[in-house]
Amino acid sequence: MRALVFEAYAGPLEVHDVWDPAPAPDGVVVRVEATGVCRSDWHAWQGHDPDVRLPHVPGHELAGTVAAVGRDVRRWREGDRVTVPFVCACGRCALCAAGEHQVCPHQTQPGFTHWGSFAELVALDAADVNLVRLPDGLPSATAASLGCRFATAYRAVVQVGRVRPGEWVAVHGCGGVGLSAVQVAVAAGARVVAVDVSPGALELARSFGAEVGVDARAVGAVGGTADAVVEATRGGAAVSLDALGSPGTCEASVRSLRPRGRHVQVGLLPPGAGRAVVPMERVIALELEVLGSHGMAAHAYDGMLGLVAAGRLRPDLLVTRELALADAAQALRDVGRQPGIAVVTAF
Ligand SMILES: [Zn+2]
Ligand SMILES: [Zn+2]
Repeated sequence: MRALVFEAYAGPLEVHDVWDPAPAPDGVVVRVEATGVCRSDWHAWQGHDPDVRLPHVPGHELAGTVAAVGRDVRRWREGDRVTVPFVCACGRCALCAAGEHQVCPHQTQPGFTHWGSFAELVALDAADVNLVRLPDGLPSATAASLGCRFATAYRAVVQVGRVRPGEWVAVHGCGGVGLSAVQVAVAAGARVVAVDVSPGALELARSFGAEVGVDARAVGAVGGTADAVVEATRGGAAVSLDALGSPGTCEASVRSLRPRGRHVQVGLLPPGAGRAVVPMERVIALELEVLGSHGMAAHAYDGMLGLVAAGRLRPDLLVTRELALADAAQALRDVGRQPGIAVVTAF
């Protein structure tokens, strides 16, 4: 198969012919029809993820068709159209039994723990636990984001952030996951302040219903941004997300909250990029909650898919570019430079 390979961290990204993957006994191989270019792929390439071994094929935000099925798989057949949460749970441990697949200690992740979906084929483990059937008529380019950024945003806003109608939600960083969070929060009846350094990203956020756009470059990072959010929301947001993952956006998010507010960390914060300083004196004085959100379990997809089918969530509007596999290398190098989600749809 053809795949995008790197042999050194931050080294060349090249499309090569490599061996086809075979399914594990409980797994499947999926023929990839679409795979999103996500900042986590960039982290994998840069060597920020200790799971990644060289040479490596990145890619974890995918949709496609089941092409081969392991002997122990019960629920899936060749030809089924699927997506998959980037966290593939084991389905057998105590946390999985409790439904907390997204933090399964035995998880695998395509594009991190093994080769991923910037390729014609990708192997996925524990298929009966992790695959999500795609509704007919949902294009693969749209469905790919349901594997990572859109689902991550949905869980962060609805399940972890517990947003209620009328509450103010601040979204720090309006890349793919941040714009998804804006959409989800608006659909949940929240009022949204979007924060970014890119006018194009803020414009998209406004088109998804954000009432206020804060240009972090104009008001100044951390303190300036937090003050702007507190002013726009007349006292601070009830829920604030760091949807980028940087020490600055994390701190600005916590400082954006009103008393009893909830900070949700969504963007990855690999320690190599610097550790976030969380102002714990505010956490205690304002009784804030500091929460993490890590993908979403396959069994939790139904509510989100229902809202997509009803047209109340529009992940299709996030896809601003469709690329060929040969263009993926440049897209990874440029991650975050253009608003919206880039998806590889030609292999
Ligand atoms: Zn497990
Ligand atoms: Zn991702």
